[in-house]
Amino acid sequence: MQKMANNDDECWSRVKGRLRTNVGEDVYSSWFARMDLESVSDGAVHMSVPTRFLKSWIQSHYADRVLSCWQAEVPTMQRVDLTVRTPMHKAALCKDNKVPVEELRADRNGSRPLSGPRVNGPSITTDTADALGPSPLDPRLTFDSFVIGRSNTLAHAAAKQVAEGRRGDPVMFNPLYVHAGVGLGKTHLLQAVTFAGNASGQRKVLYLTAEKFMYGFVQALKSQTALAFKDTLRGIDVLVIDDLQFLQGKSTQAEFCHTLNALIDSGRQVVIAADRPPSDLESLDDRVRSRLAGGLVVEMGSLGEELRLEILKSRVATVRVHHHGFEVPQAVLEYLAKTITHNGRDLEGAINRLLAHNTLSGQPVTLEMAEREVRDLIRPQEPRRVKIEDIQRVVARQYNVSRSDLLSSRRTANVVRPRQVAMYLSKTLTLRSLPEIGRRFGGRDHTTVLHAVRKIEGLVGKDPVLADEVELLKRQLQE
Ligand code: ADP
Ligand code: MG
Repeated sequence: MQKMANNDDECWSRVKGRLRTNVGEDVYSSWFARMDLESVSDGAVHMSVPTRFLKSWIQSHYADRVLSCWQAEVPTMQRVDLTVRTPMHKAALCKDNKVPVEELRADRNGSRPLSGPRVNGPSITTDTADALGPSPLDPRLTFDSFVIGRSNTLAHAAAKQVAEGRRGDPVMFNPLYVHAGVGLGKTHLLQAVTFAGNASGQRKVLYLTAEKFMYGFVQALKSQTALAFKDTLRGIDVLVIDDLQFLQGKSTQAEFCHTLNALIDSGRQVVIAADRPPSDLESLDDRVRSRLAGGLVVEMGSLGEELRLEILKSRVATVRVHHHGFEVPQAVLEYLAKTITHNGRDLEGAINRLLAHNTLSGQPVTLEMAEREVRDLIRPQEPRRVKIEDIQRVVARQYNVSRSDLLSSRRTANVVRPRQVAMYLSKTLTLRSLPEIGRRFGGRDHTTVLHAVRKIEGLVGKDPVLADEVELLKRQLQE
């Protein structure tokens, strides 16, 4: 190894500058801030990082970029060597004459990780262990209490399949991606998978909310135990992530992407829930979206009346385990199932109120009492979730053009106006952002969408024929 010269140092700062620009501030500070230059010799540069985790991460995800940043400064550079620089750790390894556990566990060819305690590497402080721990589970959310109906049959079957898998079984669909609106049973299903999977003793299932994933990761980086986080993930067979739509921040997303790839590539199962399909997760980049869409994507629809009735019955049965005297007449259940149409949470809320009233006042549950107690849970029928595809289809039909015309770059008047109308409706009837709408209309820029929205807004004020057309389209879409 050559001694480092002054100009190596300058060169190194320039390389860091390039790297920072290349990967962005977020990624840079997560991964490269603690990378040091050790030496530069003919055609090779030697750098070090404080943990093995950082080393393997940088090697597997950023090796090319690091090299090309070096090559931009030193065109003859051919190789980047990366080592872990914890002297204490190295000493321990030599003394024990052991191969690092992580390397034994590394699942190169899809082989399964060995479980067992880690013997080397930094120990996890309690704080961090907490941050890395699973999200708490609600013991009531099991497969036994999950009621199957038309809207969730497929999601349930897929979840069950995942939960019953054994270590080493081929993975049928990966990831399993379940999406549905609020209160339609995503968390219930995911926790059921986790509970059942762990109860079988066959596999280790880790349930994390997206927030927990973010928090755990950020914590791990801060306390320099990213290794521990990675290890936690490595030791599990199934990773379950709830509410993926809350995953935020560039570096966490990059992290999520890497984790997802690493798990899937090594044959581990990933289960995800979100309130929208992968294509609508606007803040995620295209590669992650397509990876998510590459498994089995299942939507759980709204709860039908029959399903609502069964859920109510199941709830009452659960409550009765502790409150034997709690009786809810069939007529009351039917009334609730008919009127509380919105979601499962309100159904649960309704039962809780009846229970509270019943135990506090000692009065039996009657229809009249139920009507009074749950009045505010009865919401007007939610407008249907309108999809951009439906808008495109209905608009195309109305104006007698094809859907691909709407997505095309054709600029003839008979397509331009319908396209603008469709964009306008997409903005007003869905919660999608302008860039997302642009993407769904053949990859257009958000300013084009904004222009269309303003144009139509302006026109409906002046042109009663167009105003009627737009109104009619709205009604068709919301029926
Ligand atoms: P989400 O995570 O989709 O917002 P949850 O899983 O939290 O919804 O469900 C909300 C409530 O509705 C919970 O009390 C849950 O037990 C109940 N629920 C929803 N779907 C079902 C179902 N199919 N069977 C039993 N309970 C359900
Ligand atoms: Mg949920």
